[in-house]
Amino acid sequence: MIQPLATLLIVDDHLDNLEVLATILRQGGYRVREAANGAAALDAIQVETPDLVLLDINMPHMSGYDVCAQIKADPKTAAIPVIFLSALSDVDEKVKAFATGGADYITKPFQTSEVLARVQYQLIIRQQQQRLSEQNHRLQQEILHRQQVEAALRQANAKLQHLALLDSLTQIANRRRFDEYLQQEWQRLQRKETPLSLILCDIDFFKRYNDRYGHQAGDACLKQVTRALQQVVKRSTDLIARYGGEEFAIILPDTDHGGAVVVAQQIRDVVRQLQIPHRGSDVANWVTLSLGIACMIPTPAHSPRNLVEAADQALYSAKQNGRDCYHLYSSLQCRSSRMPSSVRDYMNSL
Ligand code: GH3
Ligand code: MG
Ligand code: MG
Repeated sequence: MIQPLATLLIVDDHLDNLEVLATILRQGGYRVREAANGAAALDAIQVETPDLVLLDINMPHMSGYDVCAQIKADPKTAAIPVIFLSALSDVDEKVKAFATGGADYITKPFQTSEVLARVQYQLIIRQQQQRLSEQNHRLQQEILHRQQVEAALRQANAKLQHLALLDSLTQIANRRRFDEYLQQEWQRLQRKETPLSLILCDIDFFKRYNDRYGHQAGDACLKQVTRALQQVVKRSTDLIARYGGEEFAIILPDTDHGGAVVVAQQIRDVVRQLQIPHRGSDVANWVTLSLGIACMIPTPAHSPRNLVEAADQALYSAKQNGRDCYHLYSSLQCRSSRMPSSVRDYMNSL
């Protein structure tokens, strides 16, 4: 059943016309309101929005066209269908009626069945339009909601990915991130044909540190050493990672042997200057590091693993050489240093 209680507003300055039409439409099952001129019609529309307006064209003061233009100009009433009524049947009038925003046109004298059919048809169209616009609104809301959910998911995913690459104790890159970044920089510097350095640092006698001061103090010590590394390693392309338990790795792209030695020496100094008491150490009264340095210009003949092995071998040599020192691995030879006073001394000693 199509809107049995739809409200229609009839506007006509001829009261007999008004009555005839109102009777037809009431008998057709509609709720009918009446207005005898344009101003009264606009007032009536403001008071209660009708579902459809039947509008006479020829009226004194304000024509049906003017009334229709005002209805269409107001966004609140623009969607109300308007059917023009007129004794005029010439084509120009009909064209003007549609141009003003009219939905249909009925010529007087009225034929009951025609009036009812045209009214019903316009109400069906209006109802479908409303349904479509409601559906459209719902779809837009749904799209918006999905976009919000997707954005939240993307954010959560990015956070998870970030967390998956982070060491939970020290909040620096973990081993996974280290492997990923080393591979990436290896490829990049292979194309650039510039050196890639790697420093592996290991806390000396850390097992004894834990045994003497407890595991929690050990954790705090690891955090302190991390902050010290962050003080020294500052280039945006450098990466500090927790390589293992008490081992840290520092990737230094575009850095040659000399540069890597400077960084290693600074790291060694800055950690010593923390003066974290370590009574179990054989080499000092405080926490110290042993460091292994390796540097290569990446080539297809080698792999990042070769660089890690070289740094590891250099670290082993530093440990063998008494700890609290760095050792530089070179493909030609392996040299160790008991911390010369300056890098120049060190370079001269090579
Ligand atoms: P070296 O000078 O030869 O490196 O001796 P070390 O005792 O430092 O080396 P070792 O490999 O024997 O022991 C490393 C210790 O580091 C063992 C473990 O108790 C400690 N460690 C590893 N990871 C953590 C950690 O997350 N927290 C704490 N508190 N200790 C850790
Ligand atoms: Mg170790
Ligand atoms: Mg150690």
